[in-house]
Amino acid sequence: MDTAAEITPSPARTVTGHAGAIELAGVAKRFPNGALAVNGINLRIAGGSYCCLLGPSGCGKTTTLRMIAGHEEPTAGEILIDGSNVVGLSPRARGTAMMFQSYALFPHLSVRDNVAFSLRVRGTPRAERYREADQVIEQVQLTEFAARLPGQLSGGQQQRVALARALITRPRVLLLDEPLSALDEFLRLQMRAELREMQRRLGITFVHVTHTQLEAVAVADQVVVMAHGEVRQSSSARGIYAEPRSAYVAQFMGGQNVLRGTVESVAAGIATLRGPGGEGYAVRLGADKALAGQTVEFAVRRDRLSLASSSTVNSITGRVRAIEYQGTFVKMTLTRSGAPDFVAYVDEGAYFRAPVAVGTMASFGWELDEAHLLVSE
Ligand code: ADP
Ligand code: MG
Repeated sequence: MDTAAEITPSPARTVTGHAGAIELAGVAKRFPNGALAVNGINLRIAGGSYCCLLGPSGCGKTTTLRMIAGHEEPTAGEILIDGSNVVGLSPRARGTAMMFQSYALFPHLSVRDNVAFSLRVRGTPRAERYREADQVIEQVQLTEFAARLPGQLSGGQQQRVALARALITRPRVLLLDEPLSALDEFLRLQMRAELREMQRRLGITFVHVTHTQLEAVAVADQVVVMAHGEVRQSSSARGIYAEPRSAYVAQFMGGQNVLRGTVESVAAGIATLRGPGGEGYAVRLGADKALAGQTVEFAVRRDRLSLASSSTVNSITGRVRAIEYQGTFVKMTLTRSGAPDFVAYVDEGAYFRAPVAVGTMASFGWELDEAHLLVSE
């Protein structure tokens, strides 16, 4: 039996895809105390996809999520779900639900009663709410635990009860605010995979807030990087690493070196740059423009470098400050005067064939296409 079909919410799937497509248009939130938590967000999230809102504490993730959920109203802009503006509607009328942490479960109620609770509040007759609860409990694979109290379950099982509690309203959009933050490392990795698997099975839209980069890229189809109440980039998980838009995104996601240089000339779509220490760089411009004399930034991934001779274009020379063995690779940190540290991830086999000592000079180079131009913000 197709369980995904069973929980398709009443608004029919659109012809073009799954229900639960979200669009934020100029959404802003200023709290009565004057705090501007969200500063004009434009964002599209495909129906039936897994989206992560990622950013440091205080950047407006929770506020954005609560506005989609219907627990907070924007002070400007529109929120559309499947094409209709839902601003002013209750969560129920929007077809949204929020998953709360497992510690929000009622300790004195069984799994079944915890899951059926919101239907009880709505006045759904007992037989019907148990029937509904049992279906959702089956979807989260807790049938054999339906009669237990939360305290008689493992942390992961409690988290699944919390999920079932949100799913019983048959939402087309499920919102999760830092759903894994209270779990220990082992459980976090396990639940993260379970959430992803559950989203695939249900076919509804998940919007998951996290401040952990690896969590976001591990689960999400779409990663939305936020800062100061704004969206800095929205891309596939891979796109965020492969093509960070700005120095902020490159540095926040990690794994990148951000370098800068002044444009000396542009020819055939390639800018020749001069770094602050006199280094020569070449960066492909693509659709971007750059003018001679302008200072630009670009990113080079730490894992796309090779030991080079110091004279080549697109290379960095510095003194080896630290060498850390990381199992599958070796992390080498170079210091340079007047510039931030430069980090290279060297294949461990290659490193141990020709080890480098701390304190010596080393140079790393990269191919032209590994230099990725960044926009200034
Ligand atoms: P995040 O979830 O990314 O940590 P929040 O959305 O919770 O960020 O908060 C964004 C900003 O809005 C913060 O500066 C926070 O202090 C402020 N803020 C959040 N909720 C309220 C509120 N109810 N009243 C006033 N300011 C708030
Ligand atoms: Mg938050």
